[in-house]
Amino acid sequence: MAPGSQLITATHEVFNQPPPLLDYNLFSSDRVLHEAAAREGAGWATDALTRLGTTLGARDTIEAGFSANANPPRLMPFDRYGNRRDEVEFHPAYHVMLGLAVEHGLHCSPWAEPKPGAHVARAAGCYMLTQVESGVYCPIAMTYGSVPTLRREATIETEWLPRVFSRAYDKRFRPAPEKTGALLGMGMTEKQGGSDLRANTTRADPIAEGGSGRAYRITGHKWFLSAPMCDAFLMLAQAPAGPTCFLVPRWTPDGALNGLRLQRLKDKLGNRSNASSEVELVGAWGLLVGEEGRGIPIIIEMGNLTRLDCAIGSAGLMRQAVAQAIHHAQHRTVFQKRLVDQPLMTNVLADLALESEAAAALVFRLARAYDRQEDVGETALRRLLTPVAKYWICKRGPALALEAMEVLGGNGYVEESIMPRIYREMPVNSVWEGSANVICLDVRRAMEKSPEAIDAFLAEVKSAEGANSRLDRFMVTLEKELGAAPRMEEGLARRLVGKMAVGLQAALLVRYAPAAVSDAFCASRLENQAGGTFGMLPDGTDRRAIVDRAALA
Ligand SMILES: Cc1cc2nc3c(=O)[nH]c(=O)nc-3n(C[C@H](O)[C@H](O)[C@H](O)COP(=O)(O)OP(=O)(O)OC[C@H]3O[C@@H](n4cnc5c(N)ncnc54)[C@H](O)[C@@H]3O)c2cc1C
Repeated sequence: MAPGSQLITATHEVFNQPPPLLDYNLFSSDRVLHEAAAREGAGWATDALTRLGTTLGARDTIEAGFSANANPPRLMPFDRYGNRRDEVEFHPAYHVMLGLAVEHGLHCSPWAEPKPGAHVARAAGCYMLTQVESGVYCPIAMTYGSVPTLRREATIETEWLPRVFSRAYDKRFRPAPEKTGALLGMGMTEKQGGSDLRANTTRADPIAEGGSGRAYRITGHKWFLSAPMCDAFLMLAQAPAGPTCFLVPRWTPDGALNGLRLQRLKDKLGNRSNASSEVELVGAWGLLVGEEGRGIPIIIEMGNLTRLDCAIGSAGLMRQAVAQAIHHAQHRTVFQKRLVDQPLMTNVLADLALESEAAAALVFRLARAYDRQEDVGETALRRLLTPVAKYWICKRGPALALEAMEVLGGNGYVEESIMPRIYREMPVNSVWEGSANVICLDVRRAMEKSPEAIDAFLAEVKSAEGANSRLDRFMVTLEKELGAAPRMEEGLARRLVGKMAVGLQAALLVRYAPAAVSDAFCASRLENQAGGTFGMLPDGTDRRAIVDRAALA
């Protein structure tokens, strides 16, 4: 019997099946993540990230990720006597995963303990979390995104931020003042329109006098309200002066169940451990945040932070898909050779690894821009780069997941490998928080309104000038197109935004990655892009070196 094989039936010996990828450290095994976190300012977080990497890679945690997804949440609209409950029950494994994320501060740390590199350190934690369980990332991202908005209203800030900054996860469905911590969600999308928020019909009427921080009654619905077990939501509703942002808790201040009537849970393609509900708002109690009529820009502030998280989420899932694919190929033999050594498979794996590294380079650079809130250049860059990264990385994710799944052959198509879950999870990051077209139009709008953002973007790309001739040539055409961008025809927006993403990814790799990676990226992405499939790296690229770099360290 071959070493390591097990006799599981009387009929045959099991061999040439890779060992499961368990009990490994998601941080220290990932060279690209390690380097990016240190480079972008989170070197101080290495110990904490290493500990989190050990916890997340432990067999029990990985199994909890599987359990949470195999046992989706259930809506409990009523109790046994017919009283409204409007509660969602989750599998214990979901609570384990969400508790772990909260304990590590992934929902709040850069705001609660601000310091240089804090957003990058958090991004690294989220990048690892999503590789094991993505459903909990939804409330984590929304809570993180809500903080600047909550700070707009002093009374809300004083009451809610201590709860939000708590690291003690409290799964109980109780009024927030009775709990050890709180999480937030967001409610924008309605049946008649999600992208076009001005079309919202949900109404808000002042209970007494209206205005900032005052109480309103909200009547209408939300067609998508994810993580409805959250303690409060930032919601849009039409107040007398137009679309307005409200803080709507699940319980009213006098301890009664607030008027959020959960109608159904969505039966979703992926993201199955997490609940996304349809809700009717029956005179729900809410506090006005900001000014009446200014709700869209206020809630979009939260939206921008969750867009950052969409990009981090897809980049993390890419990493997990690539890690699984390389691990499999290293342990599987076909036609008397390890799969990883079959030249055509080496090309596929190297190409996948390039995409994953480019995504990581872009998200961690973007996270650094969030660490420099006061810096004018970084603020301009952030405005443009957030939608650029969100669009491109979330679009590349599903294609990468498909190809990585195929590396595992038939095993990849089976739920017990994590690959189907990754494949189903990927598209949500592109759909929600601004679908691709809306995001590309947002880039166009940002360029029209803030030309300084174009300068900041070009400066960032040009910091790699002179190091790669392909990139230099690409920059010349990109600069020309960006010059004309404010007059660009709307229908061409995706072309330009994709080019911007790839141009900046190339520049980051040229500056920071080994030459094998940056040369192959420039050769395959800046020129000769054929058909968009993987495994097409041209002659002269050091594919073996790229795969070795992406393999678990
Ligand atoms: C799993 C999941 C969870 C979600 N959770 C939440 C949540 O918690 N809170 C919340 O508020 N929402 C949530 N959403 C809703 C999500 O944000 C919306 O579905 C999304 O913003 C798109 O809105 P829509 O569905 O109304 O589509 P539409 O606005 O009708 O858009 C349909 C398509 O048209 C495109 N489009 C729109 N305008 C233009 C244009 N001018 N030019 C060209 N193309 C255009 C869009 O890009 C999109 O591809 C969730 C969605 C999903 C799938």
